[in-house]
Amino acid sequence: MGEAKLDKFGILMYHRVTPRVAGVDPPTWNVPPQQFRRQLTGLLSRGYRAWPLRQILEHCAASKPIPPRTFVVTFDDGYDNFYHYAWPVLKELGIPATVFIATAYLDSPAAFPFDDWTAAGATKVPQVAWQPLSTAHCRELLEFELVEFGSHTDSHNEFLGRPDAFRKDLKKSLERLYNVLGYREPAFAFPYGHYNEELIEAAREAGVACSLTTEPRIASAAIDPFHWGRFTATARDTGLTLAMKLNGWYSAARIAWHCLVRWEKARPTETPVHVERCRWDHCQKSSRVGLML
Ligand SMILES: [Zn+2]
Repeated sequence: MGEAKLDKFGILMYHRVTPRVAGVDPPTWNVPPQQFRRQLTGLLSRGYRAWPLRQILEHCAASKPIPPRTFVVTFDDGYDNFYHYAWPVLKELGIPATVFIATAYLDSPAAFPFDDWTAAGATKVPQVAWQPLSTAHCRELLEFELVEFGSHTDSHNEFLGRPDAFRKDLKKSLERLYNVLGYREPAFAFPYGHYNEELIEAAREAGVACSLTTEPRIASAAIDPFHWGRFTATARDTGLTLAMKLNGWYSAARIAWHCLVRWEKARPTETPVHVERCRWDHCQKSSRVGLML
């Protein structure tokens, strides 16, 4: 597979950026600050350039070209460690980012109720490792054009099969983003990456600019921005592995593996002809229902 073509781009998803804490389990969904910096400098040194999500949306809407090796950086949930550890790196490197905030927890002194790190909120663990963003820090970040905020719902609840609750919750989140940060029509990311067409339509009706999922696949101007996927950046990733993800190798390997598994399961009652029938689109459709390989 060659390099991702014109108008295709990748969106990275981070959560927490904080140093490891001695004596406790490693924080979940975390990329330590030094590794975070290495990942981004590794991408920049390979010719990748980061664009603000808003700029990508505008270019797609206006059918303007997006250069190869363009990527977007996003953060989910709204941890205060974004302000303390991720932002200094982004500022130094001139990399824009979108932070999707679960708005109900702005200024909360407690850990997110959905934080799956068992040490979150423990007295022996620095607050910065788990505390949600403060309004003051958000406003300070907004003074720099590199940071934009998006909605991650208000409560970060599970909304599959609960479209009315989703509408209500998202409305509350959008009102809060507007009242506190002055944002209208922000970008949106589904909590837990859980979505279906019903929720996508509800998000569209609510007036958000896009709805991002956690499906690890390349986005493009040809794909509805309410279906754009994202690649998770983990502590194990380097600039090289992130470049591979952004360039489509990860998606290709995942789909090829999926085809292989299906073919293997089909033997011996079905002939390998399935492999020929198993076109990319078909496989991508299958993976859309959440099959993780
Ligand atoms: Zn989340």
